[in-house]
Amino acid sequence: MSESDTGVAAVRPAGQAADRLRITEIFHSIQGEADAIGWRTVFVRLTGCPLRCVWCDTEYSFHGGDWHTVDDILAEVASHGARHVCVTGGEPLAQKRCIPLLARLCDAGYEVSLETSGALDVSAVDPRVRKVMDLKAPDSGESARNLWANLAHLLPHDQVKIVIASRADYEWARGVVAEHGIDRRCMVLFSPVHGAVQPRELAQWIIEDRVPVRFQLQLHKLLWNDAPGH
Ligand code: SF4
Repeated sequence: MSESDTGVAAVRPAGQAADRLRITEIFHSIQGEADAIGWRTVFVRLTGCPLRCVWCDTEYSFHGGDWHTVDDILAEVASHGARHVCVTGGEPLAQKRCIPLLARLCDAGYEVSLETSGALDVSAVDPRVRKVMDLKAPDSGESARNLWANLAHLLPHDQVKIVIASRADYEWARGVVAEHGIDRRCMVLFSPVHGAVQPRELAQWIIEDRVPVRFQLQLHKLLWNDAPGH
């Protein structure tokens, strides 16, 4: 995936240093989902995404942002004094310098997680990083982008997240977990789309069908209603 697919390269100034990444925001908050839920975390949100999920809640990260060197990002992260760092987007892997950024954060001793769409190759991600990888269900509009070869690169500490907007999405998700044995590779998270599926309804389906997944609600939506910077 080239940077031109993200809308990022088009705004890169001529002669921009090769070790810079385009960043929408770096902020200190509480991790709202996945395995590290509840931990004080510094979020590094990279600009740009080649996907357009119907229910995307971070459209403000598609464009804009500012260029930062990896050293500057590490200094900003360190200033918040948190043990957990989450690299997110947009789709962070759409910028190729994301890979060395992740390694540098691991080298610095942080607990590092990466939120990725599941559409881009994760094979080069440092194995110390906890990947939180989406699989896009049909109602996202981006199901065709799922890169199934990524499943082979999942480690036991990684997580697969499927965001569910309907009963049809749920049945698709239940089917792919069983078909690919994803729950035997790593933790699988089912999460309802806010306002599309009643959380209680999804929880009930999981119980009735004895699906080997973890139900989750996004804590940051409850706390801050998804305002940028949280
Ligand atoms: S992959 Fe993530 S950032 Fe990109 S459109 Fe989908 S939800 Fe939004």
